[in-house]
Amino acid sequence: MSFDYLFKFIIIGDSAVGKSCLLLQFTDHRFVTTHDLTLGCEFGAQLVQIEEHKIKLQIWDTAGQETFRSITRNYYRGSAGALLVYDITRRETFNHLNDWLKETTNYSNGKLDIILVGNKTDLLENRAVSYEEGEEFAKEHGMKFLETSAKTALNVEQAFMATAKLVYSKL
Ligand code: GDP
Repeated sequence: MSFDYLFKFIIIGDSAVGKSCLLLQFTDHRFVTTHDLTLGCEFGAQLVQIEEHKIKLQIWDTAGQETFRSITRNYYRGSAGALLVYDITRRETFNHLNDWLKETTNYSNGKLDIILVGNKTDLLENRAVSYEEGEEFAKEHGMKFLETSAKTALNVEQAFMATAKLVYSKL
């Protein structure tokens, strides 16, 4: 299928925050509960439309490397956008956001458009990070913020589209 632009996106954040599930929900409209998704799925593509342009989003998942803190410069290379994901039910994944931001600054020459994503909103009874805290952190760092559920698909498309629109607006 033809397209006018190709954007490379990456999904970053701690292990098990739902990065692979967000990708699968966006590209395939599916949700699975197994935890070894990342082993099979490290890449997805989706064609989207912004104004009169067809844009191919090429989205990379960390393929489990985040556990070992060994995401390399290669992973960031050529990326225009990133979804920085934490799990609203696990506070430590929110506490690590500064580390992730430091890494993106090191590897991306500051050219990366980042959207902050608080995932797993369907698990409201286990919420450990409030919406306001997420919003505040995003504001402090000049990022857009969305809460999503890869399970119910809430805001998943919006999160990827917000990233795409941000990159598109700077073309
Ligand atoms: P990754 O390591 O960041 O890629 O995380 P995964 O996508 O493998 O997800 C980790 C675990 O969280 C899996 O068991 C998923 O089924 C589960 N999970 C991911 N997203 C959601 C969500 O939005 N809601 C719920 N309830 N579970 C989720």
